[in-house]
Amino acid sequence: MSDRSELEALREEVREVTNEIIRLTGLRFSLTKEIDRIKRSIKLPVVDYKVERDLKSSIIDACNKYNVDEHFGLRLLNLLIDEAVRMQKGMDKHTKAISVIDMFVLAKKMEREGSSVIHLEVGEPDFGPPEKVKRTTYDSIERGFTHYTEPAGIPDLRGEIANSVNKRFQINISPEQVAVTCGGRFSVYASILSTLFSGDEAVVIQPAWPAYVDCIEDVGSRAVVFKTKLEDGWRPDVESFSELLNDSTKLIVLNYPNNPTGKVLEKHDLKAIVELAKERDITILSDEVYLDYAFKPYNSILEFHDCKSIYVSSFSKSYGMTGFRIGYAVSDLETIKKISRIQALASTSVPEFIQYAAIEALRCEDDVKVYSNLIKRRIKLICKELKKMEIPYYEPDGTFYAFPQISQDIDFDIEKFSLDLLREKGVCVAPGTTFGDYPNFVRISACQNEHIISEGLRRIGEVLI
Ligand code: PLP
Repeated sequence: MSDRSELEALREEVREVTNEIIRLTGLRFSLTKEIDRIKRSIKLPVVDYKVERDLKSSIIDACNKYNVDEHFGLRLLNLLIDEAVRMQKGMDKHTKAISVIDMFVLAKKMEREGSSVIHLEVGEPDFGPPEKVKRTTYDSIERGFTHYTEPAGIPDLRGEIANSVNKRFQINISPEQVAVTCGGRFSVYASILSTLFSGDEAVVIQPAWPAYVDCIEDVGSRAVVFKTKLEDGWRPDVESFSELLNDSTKLIVLNYPNNPTGKVLEKHDLKAIVELAKERDITILSDEVYLDYAFKPYNSILEFHDCKSIYVSSFSKSYGMTGFRIGYAVSDLETIKKISRIQALASTSVPEFIQYAAIEALRCEDDVKVYSNLIKRRIKLICKELKKMEIPYYEPDGTFYAFPQISQDIDFDIEKFSLDLLREKGVCVAPGTTFGDYPNFVRISACQNEHIISEGLRRIGEVLI
């Protein structure tokens, strides 16, 4: 056989094998649909991590047997599992639970059409940045700080951030361990991108800010969810948590003070999770953007020196600088280099004058105290009103939010409730399903003044009667 005809024959074989893969994929989808039907009839949850794990180890065996790269096999498996879960949840590729942004956009549309809306959905404080920060921003533009900078941030800012966390947590990190990013959100994304490969697993404690699961899935990894409950005061039971960890677990995501529950983790629980991570060489991504709104003693991941971690913080919440888009990550030198590389690829750097404004913000400790006390007062007000309405809730230890359980009905449709509340009462809240499987909860934010918050809660009360 000539080389040419051999090449053609091989190409034909590859075509057939690829078609066969697609045929088998279709067959797999039909089987998962059947599984879905049975699960529904006997009321089993869609996701079963034990079944996934068994499947995973059989795939690893198959990879070894057929000489297929293990990472590739696991990537393929993740793709198939993701698709099966989506199908079983009755979602097409692009449909997701209604997000806070969806609610916000809808509310904005109503406002443009002449309605007035009480915004209890957004995590953006009504107060702006301190006056001194505004002044520095204008001055920095005047002084010509309008250029690209080093991707990881200007040395002065990295130095000031290092000083600030060193002082706060009694540690000793260097400025090179800091990467300044476009908001805390970009730090979260870049941390996930630089830590996970497709086929890896990352554990997220829910309820949680939805970006974690979205980012993890975006990089082709599997987000393994650990659900906490109101009845347990949103405390993760560390023993059950440990059962989720396995050889594929590369990241644990923590967010305390927590959005949306307001929970601050007890030190012994944090310590226990750190120990688990150390034993298994897992990195902890600790998103602490609400640290200045902790109303009780709070411990940072940075206090645990011997653990692989990425600490994320932001200027958005502490200084009312949401629209400035500036946050930062603190980690080991290698991880910071990776994060900076992603920042360079995606956005070059945070604008120069914004970085100078952030240096000024770090000097505004008094303003932060004022903001924090203001939010604390509002949270107390929300709790008082919820109590009056006999709505179960956990009294937040921090953040801008309360996460009450507004219905006990297992068939409650929280998205419909939230949409009706917006359309009929002009009150916008974040449905609990945004943060995981919490169809009986809403997140109420304390980012408006007390008068507006009271009125919003009064209207919620009218609907719940
Ligand atoms: N992390 C959490 C838990 C958040 O709630 C938010 C914003 O709402 C962020 C990070 C991102 O904040 P930013 O990108 O504005 O710094």
